[in-house]
Amino acid sequence: VADVTLAQLVDWLGRFRDLVTEKQSYLTELDSAIGDADHGSNMARGMGTVMEKLGTPATIDELFKTVGMTLVTSVGGASGPLYGTFFLRIGTTAGAVSGLTYAEFSAALRAGLAGVIARGKAEVGDKTMLDALVPALDAWDAAASAPWDAAFAAASSGRDATEPLVARKGRASYLGDRSAGHLDPGATSTALLFEALAGALA
Ligand code: ADP
Ligand code: MG
Ligand code: MG
Repeated sequence: VADVTLAQLVDWLGRFRDLVTEKQSYLTELDSAIGDADHGSNMARGMGTVMEKLGTPATIDELFKTVGMTLVTSVGGASGPLYGTFFLRIGTTAGAVSGLTYAEFSAALRAGLAGVIARGKAEVGDKTMLDALVPALDAWDAAASAPWDAAFAAASSGRDATEPLVARKGRASYLGDRSAGHLDPGATSTALLFEALAGALA
């Protein structure tokens, strides 16, 4: 039997939509400090459109193809193509199946991460969503049990660790040293992505 089912993955996305909608003003407030004040609306609108377009996918690749394409095409801003690529790669790596083992799911998440890096050319420490995503996946792989809880905790610590950093990628990098002293909006939404995953898999 599969550890991670198609239904749980649909639940993950629905929970992520709910969290970014609930935290929309907060995410936009974070982006107003070091960006252009649209991260909350980008994510809430993008995930809202995703859930409207989802239909009833038969396989995991079909599910994430819709998610990824919708985000890439409907969200103007760095986060649309980056989150979109993340989900597209998860889907192509998972394949035309309706369930995954935890190891297969981890491999799919890693492929998603590789897509974000290929597209955005950022590294850990650049004050981006990678500062939550990379530690989350490392914690997932290191966990002896309940990897979703370890991943959520690590994503949250990674988000918090962005506060003192100077941004080296994205709009926040235009501020130079003035980007320090604020949480990164994208790392904050990525922590919500893992909060949603923990809720779906628990
Ligand atoms: P935009 O900056 O285009 O308005 P958003 O506000 O929706 O887009 O998203 C901003 C977030 O995108 C940042 O907080 C950061 O986490 C993430 N980001 C920006 N550029 C990159 C990049 N090159 N690689 C990874 N993440 C990035
Ligand atoms: Mg922005
Ligand atoms: Mg923008």
